Amino acid sequence: MADYTISVINGDGIGPEVVAEGLKALHAVGALCGHRFATREYLAGGAAIDAKGDPLPADTVKGVLDSHALLFGAIGGPKWESMPHHLKPEAGLLRLRKALGAFANLRPAVVYDELAGASSIKPEILKGTDIMVVRELTGGIYFGPGGITGDGANRVGINTEVYSQPEIERIGHVAFQTARLRRKKVCSVDKANVLVSSQLWREVMIEIAKQYPDVTLSHMYVDNCAMQLIRDPRQFDVIVTTNIFGDILSDEASQLTGSIGMLASASVGGPVGFFEPIHGSAPDIAGQGKANPLATISTVALLLRYGLKLEREAALVEAAIRRVLASGKRTADIRQEGLPVLGTVAMGEAVLAELKRA
Ligand code: NAD
Repeated sequence: MADYTISVINGDGIGPEVVAEGLKALHAVGALCGHRFATREYLAGGAAIDAKGDPLPADTVKGVLDSHALLFGAIGGPKWESMPHHLKPEAGLLRLRKALGAFANLRPAVVYDELAGASSIKPEILKGTDIMVVRELTGGIYFGPGGITGDGANRVGINTEVYSQPEIERIGHVAFQTARLRRKKVCSVDKANVLVSSQLWREVMIEIAKQYPDVTLSHMYVDNCAMQLIRDPRQFDVIVTTNIFGDILSDEASQLTGSIGMLASASVGGPVGFFEPIHGSAPDIAGQGKANPLATISTVALLLRYGLKLEREAALVEAAIRRVLASGKRTADIRQEGLPVLGTVAMGEAVLAELKRA
């Protein structure tokens, strides 16, 4: 039994609607397992621009750093699109990620049996897929030296993939520790046949693996991995990879699952973990009460597991989501012929009812 302080940033658009349902699940699992979650709300994104003229007010960063974990909805929308770049909602989000020093991005791609038909891949290939992509988030080619040199038709564009041994080690440890909470398999994805930075990546992963004898390490070239993800996704447990490869592969993996309204993510490695659904603020459906809250409720499960190390509590939330889907309830984005379509609140309440029954 313990008390935790959770920072909450609702954000814009559907953010407040889905976060409200996520919080209901958090408090319900707390009541069930004897934890108290004290939540503190902070502003970021468009809501913060409107209230304080800054997409990331200083008290938000201070408050989040003083808590155990951050639950984040989504930010942005047409209202703020014409603002100068540094005042856009997205600028606040990037500053927040940097302030939290989260170098590891965890993105699960879980295919629920009931939704296997929602993907463009054949259901028999997808059923049982449960992958965790661990992407290095603060290094690699996105941050290495580069620029455009020369003039006119002779200009040259350069980006450089740079990884230091400590950067590879720390993401490797996150991957192996994540695998220990799962099926104990890590596939390290690189391009070691061509890139020397990948050769170092592979050497370091092999070295780190010695500290995790209970976890199996394999290696795959990124081009093969892109193919294997759609040929036989069930072969993967944890995939660990660089910033650019992870950017592409995690989007590919997410598409195995059907809807963006189902997918959660965690950014960890700094002092406070950052937990958010992968979708944006969905201005096209904001305020209509039809957003799917399951991505945010799954995000709460990640917050419990990776932010607070409460595995049993995380599993309870995930089991409740599974039972709701098995009972045939759907939101509009995952609608299926003949099954009832629920709004945001009704779907949140359905998960709550299953949690209370646990
Ligand atoms: P989006 O994810 O907001 O929406 C894409 C499509 O998916 C829309 O049709 C939307 O209705 C649907 N959708 C998204 N979440 C859903 C849910 N929970 N339930 C049902 N349907 C859902 O992406 P976008 O339209 O490209 O961006 C909208 C705004 O969100 C932009 O301002 C963008 O910058 C911002 N954004 C923010 C984040 C973030 O906060 N991390 C991430 C992506 C986009």
